[in-house]
Amino acid sequence: MNKPRILIVEDEERIARVLELELEHEGYETKKVLDGLDALGAFRAEPFDLVLLDVMLPGLDGMGVLRRIRQGSDVPVIMLTAKDEVADKVTGLDLGASDYVTKPFDMDELLARIRAALRKTVQSSSLSAADLVVKEESREVTRGGQAIELTPREYDLLIYLLKNKRHVLSREQLLDGVWGYDYYGDTNVVDVYIRYVRNKIDKPFELPLIHTVRGVGYVLKES
Ligand code: CA
Repeated sequence: MNKPRILIVEDEERIARVLELELEHEGYETKKVLDGLDALGAFRAEPFDLVLLDVMLPGLDGMGVLRRIRQGSDVPVIMLTAKDEVADKVTGLDLGASDYVTKPFDMDELLARIRAALRKTVQSSSLSAADLVVKEESREVTRGGQAIELTPREYDLLIYLLKNKRHVLSREQLLDGVWGYDYYGDTNVVDVYIRYVRNKIDKPFELPLIHTVRGVGYVLKES
């Protein structure tokens, strides 16, 4: 599991530093920038799971940053606003901020809001191919609305295939990705589990999703 990456945009260096330390202590990976233009640069250069965004910033203010971010991304953004900036909260939410925290903020409250915002992202992420849908939060698998029961290993294999949809995966890749590098055994186990998963998600339905690529491995795709 990768550490969630958080972009901290705050021009008050003392606050930015505290945020950086606290968030890293909580197990997040962070990058901090001190103005709005650097924030956009950083955001375009690398992926982030969440943005903490101060409103009053030199260069480009928080609203401007938020507006630009929202042109191409639905990453959760938590605005950091001063107590008397009520209008900013409204504007921020209108522009698509996920949440806001009033400064001076309570660190535990901020951390709770960060966790909530990240959880929401996970909840809303469902993986699908044709009429097959997997809700990762609840581990529900359905095809054509029909619930499908998978064992944990079958589920992991299906998720790995779905996350690499349309990419041909070798048995070794599947073994590493699903069973892990420390698995001692041969790649036949992959074929066995592919058969199990196929029996459940493909066999009862018309359109097969898991395809064998001879001499290479497997691919999950719609046609
Ligand atoms: Ca500021």
